[in-house]
Amino acid sequence: MLLLRLHSCSVLKVDHPPLAFPAGPGPVQSPQAPPTSHLTQQQFQTAPPTAMGHPPMGPHSSQMAHPQSPLAGPTMAGPQSMGGPPPMGGMGRPFPGPPPPGAGGFQQPGPGAAGPPGHPQQLQGTDSTVTWSSTVAISKLTVELKLIVLNAARSVHKSLLEDCTAKCVLANRIAPGTGHQSLTLWNCLCVKGQFGGQMAGPGMAGPGMAGPGMAGPGMAGPFQGGAAQMAGPPQKKLDPDSIPSTTQVIEDDQAKRGGQVYTTNLRGQVPPLVTTDYTVQDQGNASPRFMRCTTYSFPCTADLAKQCQVPLATIIKPFATVPKNETPMYVVNHGETGPIRCNRCKAYMCPYMQFTDGGRRYQCGFCNCVNEVPAFYFQHLDHMGKRVDFYERPELSLGSYEFAATLDYCKNNKPASPPAYIFMIDVSYANIKSGLVRLVCDELKTLLDNLPREDGAESSMVKVGFVTYNKILHFYNVKSALAQPQMMVVSDTAEMFVPLLDGFLVNFQESRAVINNLLDQIPDMFADTNESETVFAPVIQAGVEALKAAECSGKLFIFHSSIPTAEAPGKLKNRDDKKLINTEKEKTLFQPQKAVYEQLSKDCVSQGCSVDLFLFPSQYVDIATMGDVATHTGGSVFKYSNFQVERDGQHFLSDLRKDVEKAIGFDAIMRVRTSTGFRATDFFGAIHMNNTTDVEMAAVDCDKAVTVEFKHDDTLSEETGALMQCALLYTTISGQRRLRIHNLSLNCSAQLSELYKSCETDALVNFFAKSAYRAMLNQPLKTVKEILVNQAAHMLACYRKNCASPSAASQLILPDAMKVFPVYLNSLLKTGPLVGSAELSTDDRAHQRLSTTAMGVEDTQLLLYPRLIPLHNMDVASDVVPTPVRCSEERLTDAGMFLLENGCSLFLWLGQACPPEMIQSIFNVPSLAHVPVDLVRTRSLPELDNPQSQKLRSIIDSLLDQRPSSMKLMIVKQKDRSEIMFRQHLVEDKGLHGGASYMDFLCYVHREIRQVLT
Ligand SMILES: [Zn+2]
Repeated sequence: MLLLRLHSCSVLKVDHPPLAFPAGPGPVQSPQAPPTSHLTQQQFQTAPPTAMGHPPMGPHSSQMAHPQSPLAGPTMAGPQSMGGPPPMGGMGRPFPGPPPPGAGGFQQPGPGAAGPPGHPQQLQGTDSTVTWSSTVAISKLTVELKLIVLNAARSVHKSLLEDCTAKCVLANRIAPGTGHQSLTLWNCLCVKGQFGGQMAGPGMAGPGMAGPGMAGPGMAGPFQGGAAQMAGPPQKKLDPDSIPSTTQVIEDDQAKRGGQVYTTNLRGQVPPLVTTDYTVQDQGNASPRFMRCTTYSFPCTADLAKQCQVPLATIIKPFATVPKNETPMYVVNHGETGPIRCNRCKAYMCPYMQFTDGGRRYQCGFCNCVNEVPAFYFQHLDHMGKRVDFYERPELSLGSYEFAATLDYCKNNKPASPPAYIFMIDVSYANIKSGLVRLVCDELKTLLDNLPREDGAESSMVKVGFVTYNKILHFYNVKSALAQPQMMVVSDTAEMFVPLLDGFLVNFQESRAVINNLLDQIPDMFADTNESETVFAPVIQAGVEALKAAECSGKLFIFHSSIPTAEAPGKLKNRDDKKLINTEKEKTLFQPQKAVYEQLSKDCVSQGCSVDLFLFPSQYVDIATMGDVATHTGGSVFKYSNFQVERDGQHFLSDLRKDVEKAIGFDAIMRVRTSTGFRATDFFGAIHMNNTTDVEMAAVDCDKAVTVEFKHDDTLSEETGALMQCALLYTTISGQRRLRIHNLSLNCSAQLSELYKSCETDALVNFFAKSAYRAMLNQPLKTVKEILVNQAAHMLACYRKNCASPSAASQLILPDAMKVFPVYLNSLLKTGPLVGSAELSTDDRAHQRLSTTAMGVEDTQLLLYPRLIPLHNMDVASDVVPTPVRCSEERLTDAGMFLLENGCSLFLWLGQACPPEMIQSIFNVPSLAHVPVDLVRTRSLPELDNPQSQKLRSIIDSLLDQRPSSMKLMIVKQKDRSEIMFRQHLVEDKGLHGGASYMDFLCYVHREIRQVLT
């Protein structure tokens, strides 16, 4: 057992000679490192039932809670109908009642069952240690570490320093036969130095540390970190190969699992990384494209979970795009009575239901209730106890599928209608002058041909409508029978209403002529406007009212320029105040102005009205407030500062096209059911929670993810595992009501080592990012950061204490599955929202915070560890994108050219000594100095007919294609002013706006771990 556990850990041993850490000098506050030890066990404060408190919902919304609501839990079923078991009280708690005798719900016939090879046969009792041992292919690191001392630790003798420097050697040993990796770093002074002398001995914990810490005054100035570094004596660089590498982990996983088929037949199986290229074969559990977990082995008890502090969470992307070669989503129809569900917990028919009694009954895998099989659904069992129609029924053999929903699942028991898209264009002075209005109008003429449609359908059923506005709103009648569009003006924005019902929302194909006529006229109609004031909340209100009147769900595309200062509901004022940064009140910068906007969100959600906001600000617009409705309605916020058509037009149009065309579901409500012993307790995403269990989403598209956290209610069984079922009721793009079901089964173990082996760092980071970004609304940034580091230290300390073999306290031991967790965590701490620097715009910080809320694991992974792709020695003959290198200045070369992307930004970095031939082939100019400024401005590369140019442009195109939103290309020359924008993405280096380098952070975490252990 011990051997196996050793298999799965990297040990980075940091050996501190006793002399090196004189206990004497009191702790010096580090400008970079948050003191955390005093925060043991501190948790993020939960937001007070947030934004969307209790409030009376609109008439439609009440339907959601109606006893007939199919998504409702047991409560909804009404106590009478259930006999014994108590109602669930809306808390989604699994029934506490005694489980019926016999095994739990998760039993599948053993191996040898009839059926195609590789089908789900043994979903139970998987020996994940075996699986695991084969995954531990840690590449050899043979590295010499030259380390050094930054800030000549004043309290230490100089000769000692030199002595220690000489010993700074990192040895790599691989114990024969075990794969156990031991990294030993004989130094400490370097560590001490890099932390500005803070790295004191183990005794330093305690109240003395509660000072200014990470967010203290030292952090206020711009580039503080950099300055401090400069101030020290000349330093040698640490070879970064010595510490766990994200790019290596990604490469290793790609080498091991890339190009393979991942079958989902095993419970608790850890999927390939999000960065790996794999194919999924659904054999009873949802594809990792839909669901990813922080760990695939839950601890059996709440005590263990508390002890390890590893968050138990699943990131669900219900509409994730699935490659063409993977199983499409089957639609199952159970007829008039609707999908078959457990009588007690209301879980839907799925592979975790165990048929018994010759096929006449089934036991629910979630609550253990034994249910009668309806006559129409009866089927005989084979000798293994499996229904003979097992493979014909997606709901019995697949992890993901859909049910056709009956009228019971529709609002007011009326069939749903196809959704509508309303385009709402701010025609105030700024948008007219920038050329945006004309750009949007021109684009819509062709874009509307690409509205999303059902697979195989000839045309889209989505209706469209148009509004323009500044201080007042203009609605357009574009009925196909009209020769000319008609405008209706609403100038009373206080009580918004829609002046026309007939002719406002139309079919584009039918009204094409009138619509094109309107789109031609709009830019000219307002060409001479002087109006610079705008309203905003009434615009959203108008959209909701229009959808209400048409009795459909839909999406508003709002193209807006400025902070809404016109006299109207939701009027905002500039409340940006850099003086609040690094104070207790900094959080207020990110809290939305409530009242009007809070109510608007509720109205939108109850109508299934999603809001996508395209912002074109030239100054502060209070994104924290303006983006609030979008981020509670499954929408997105796009931001183009100081928009210029020439420079940003293509970037914006690609975003708009992707946004209009993407796969999406409307008026959605999601419920996550779990087997007994644990339950979903917290949800993060572009969602609205009206109670503690139902996740309401006005819309959910292929890029939006909801992160769900789980807590124990009781002890989990190793035998039955932990099962979860995500049921999403929604309206399709053609107006059909459907239920999309994703099932996932995890292992449970009383051994923490199993949990650590089954962790997924990328998923953990997604959870930490979302929870920290939510917490910063209610707590000072400093506290949020302290909690993050503290929790990480507890996770790692617990591993060390319980799962690793005994070792010297000076060793830093990282579980293999988490070995790059620190680099991601450190990157998160340095992100705009958390960094607390007056250098950054408040709107940019708020924007990043909001955008991250709905990100899936792929997006947070890339955001926190960008791809840095060397281009100077790429093989132009190959289709392959060059292998990325670590995100550090160390990896740049003066004679090199690099591409960097993180899903939001895209840079082309040109080294000072970039060979003229390379510059010539890409830019068609003789040298770097000749790379024209206007090229940098237009952010596009010339289309040259040579292999280098073609290859580079194809790499860029493929990157843009893969990402949810477009990225504008920034061309950056080494040592230019603009390089700073690029450098802030080199996440292994010291942060430009504060924050430690990766190495410093690792040492810092190590110290925290030691404190936890003492
Ligand atoms: Zn049940």
